[in-house]
Amino acid sequence: MSPVLGDRVLASAPAAIREVVGESPPRAVSAGADDDLVSAMDWERLRQAVSSCRACELCETRTQTVFGVGNREADLMIIGEAPGADEDRQGEPFVGRAGQLLDLILAAICLKREQVYIANILKCRPPQNRDPRPQEAQRCEPFLMRQIALVRPRVLLSVGRVSAQNLLRTDAPIGWLRGRWLEFGADRIPLMVTYHPAYLLRSPDQKSKAWRDLLQVARRLRETVDASGQGTEG
Ligand code: URA
Repeated sequence: MSPVLGDRVLASAPAAIREVVGESPPRAVSAGADDDLVSAMDWERLRQAVSSCRACELCETRTQTVFGVGNREADLMIIGEAPGADEDRQGEPFVGRAGQLLDLILAAICLKREQVYIANILKCRPPQNRDPRPQEAQRCEPFLMRQIALVRPRVLLSVGRVSAQNLLRTDAPIGWLRGRWLEFGADRIPLMVTYHPAYLLRSPDQKSKAWRDLLQVARRLRETVDASGQGTEG
């Protein structure tokens, strides 16, 4: 990820967000996956690189890496936080209770799981599902950046605080970030932040806000797909 991503996001963010987010410092040079090597990988090499990664200590406690799943040509790419126990066991993102709710959320905007691409900030489960540490996110980052570059989604949906803060390189609270269009990366991919399904399971009263966020995503997808005369198959 370009170290100026935060500035790009800030430049396009509403004034209120700019105030809260402030200046985001560039990250230290990654000592994890080699950015240049990874950014040239095809899907197969990328998958192999992820599964053999030992760039942080999470490799000691994982059962397996959790690469990502779905349509590699998806219009919508969803980015979560990190694998939990179920994902660590099965090797696929969002297969536990939060994943079941994510499937329902997608169904509400007439999308099946197979039509979107789903990945996480981290490819390995943090022990006891603790928050990812900054260094872990940093070392894993080239993998996710390559996945985004390969999928080239029309819209990104970032679910949860950890996903949003890492993608946008900000400490701004999710209450500020969710529900409005932001942009990601040099290609200025439209990015919507919403609540994490696991949070919605704990706080069902927040579901209406997530629903509004998803409606915005559905509308944006329709507009961009209509404008191009194409769409995700399935
Ligand atoms: N939560 C996430 O953020 N990602 C998963 O894959 C599962 C639960």
